[in-house]
Amino acid sequence: MLEISNYINGELVSAQNGETLPLYNPAEGTVYGSAPSSDNKDVESAIIAAQQAYPTWSALSIDERSRYLIKIADLIESKLDSLAHDESLDNGKPLWLSKVVDIPRAASNFRFFGNAITQFASESHEMTDAINYTLRHPLGVVACISPWNLPLYLFSWKIAPALAAGNTVVAKPSEVTPLTAFRLAEICIEAGLPPGVLNIINGYGDKVGAPLTNHSKVKAISFTGSTNVGREIAQVAARDFKKVSLEMGGKNPNIIFADCNYPEMIRNTIRSSFASQGQICLCGSRIYIERPIYEQFKKDFIPVTENQKVGHPFDADTKFGAIVSKPHYDKILSYIELAKEEGGTVLTGGHAVHPSGHENGWYIAPTIIEGLPPNCRTNQEEIFGPVVTITPFDTEEEVLQYANGTAYGLSASVWTENISRAQRLSKHIDAGIVWVNTWLHRDLRTPFGGVKNSGIGREGGFEALKFFTEPKNVCIKF
Ligand code: NAD
Repeated sequence: MLEISNYINGELVSAQNGETLPLYNPAEGTVYGSAPSSDNKDVESAIIAAQQAYPTWSALSIDERSRYLIKIADLIESKLDSLAHDESLDNGKPLWLSKVVDIPRAASNFRFFGNAITQFASESHEMTDAINYTLRHPLGVVACISPWNLPLYLFSWKIAPALAAGNTVVAKPSEVTPLTAFRLAEICIEAGLPPGVLNIINGYGDKVGAPLTNHSKVKAISFTGSTNVGREIAQVAARDFKKVSLEMGGKNPNIIFADCNYPEMIRNTIRSSFASQGQICLCGSRIYIERPIYEQFKKDFIPVTENQKVGHPFDADTKFGAIVSKPHYDKILSYIELAKEEGGTVLTGGHAVHPSGHENGWYIAPTIIEGLPPNCRTNQEEIFGPVVTITPFDTEEEVLQYANGTAYGLSASVWTENISRAQRLSKHIDAGIVWVNTWLHRDLRTPFGGVKNSGIGREGGFEALKFFTEPKNVCIKF
């Protein structure tokens, strides 16, 4: 049994209350280890450590801070195989996916912000009789809270800019997938990161997340997770006027026109529908297809979906691995039942899978459902699993209404060779990110986030560095 620890003031420690929570291997449905089940006492220790580390860390030169981040990036890269193994063990995603996406991206996050901070400059505004310039100072102790779906990828996406900007951090990984956050703590020790600069506390949302976001010494909260928890955090942050960045749920449309590059669209729609078992916030779970190609799409998309092997994350030919946890697996299956009650027809999938030798793991076949109206619960609520609905449409106006007809607004994909239409739709779709003829094509310099119930604020590039700093204008009269 693997026992992981908290990382407080540069040391790996247990929860002060001695309690632990179980860590599950979703591929087998078994417990493989434990993490501290911390509470407000551990949060308090971490915040004290972060406060003590702040004056020295924030006073380091940009080059010195940058060097620490680049060193962490190098160490993540050098441990690619073991980190990818741990990510897939903990989360259930295929090993190849952890190797080509999750872990390289975590290294890129540290490298990117290690470099970005050296290029981050603030504005000056000249008047006829004075000069204004803007200082951008770090905030102090900040909280970073992340979900289970892209564990190290999203954890590092918050921590790296916060540290680069000169803040000290108390971070909380998801209690469902904390293993690679623990590995990051080991890497920070190896990199010689000064004690208290980054602190990582394990445990449940109500026992660790809530005291952390409520703490008066926490100046900003960067959160990625569900809309319900985001709403709670927004209320807490409002009370104390904390800065808040919320990346929350989605119900993203994938809009396919008859004039698209069809083979390219099919290849990408498999990914955008089911990558990481559909547990990526950017997955397109509502697919709208222009009527002239609707039947052809079904004829092609269903067999391609059925040919993708659902299996153990460590098998080389596995395309889709296990669902992250039993509660989430039950939730997805219950949504498939709901879709049937709402009148949907399951065209493929719709059931659990029990791969030979791993019968107790939590696997679900990629599922395609048709015949549901846009406003039913299946088409409105986030399922966050390998389940898509397909719906035909006739006009651009109609599909725009469908696309915008949910409470969410994270991302959208549009498939068309008509550049005018692509521009029109991109302008009018309610989303923080629109991909045209592609999906999950990321440039880390771009603003990342959602609108409506999907988010407040933007991550990425200088947006993240702006979030983690406070601007102060200085006006000097000549
Ligand atoms: P979640 O909201 O249940 O948990 C996210 C994190 O918040 C966890 O670390 C959890 O312990 C913590 N938490 C729970 N209650 C808390 C509280 N009261 N105060 C402070 N922290 C608390 O989300 P999840 O199930 O881990 O993740 C899935 C969700 O994340 C989906 O809705 C998905 O769309 C969303 N997500 C969004 C993005 C994005 O960029 N918009 C990216 C990935 C995932």
